[in-house]
Amino acid sequence: MADGLRGDIERAVEHHKVSKASVGYEHPAAKSDHCGICRHYEAPNACEIVAGQVRREDWCRRFQKG
Ligand code: SF4
Repeated sequence: MADGLRGDIERAVEHHKVSKASVGYEHPAAKSDHCGICRHYEAPNACEIVAGQVRREDWCRRFQKG
């Protein structure tokens, strides 16, 4: 895929994600559940539903063990 088109798609996807503030994002996670074992995590540093950089040691209220 052309780099320009890929960038456009990535920006569009990012735009539709929810903010960290709206999901009680924790950096790092206060308990043992964390992004690295969540089904929404996209290694190495993203999440399919939460916008911005997401680290495997973080957590939010949309956590689903996967
Ligand atoms: S815990 Fe929240 S931010 Fe982390 S991967 Fe899961 S849904 Fe995304």
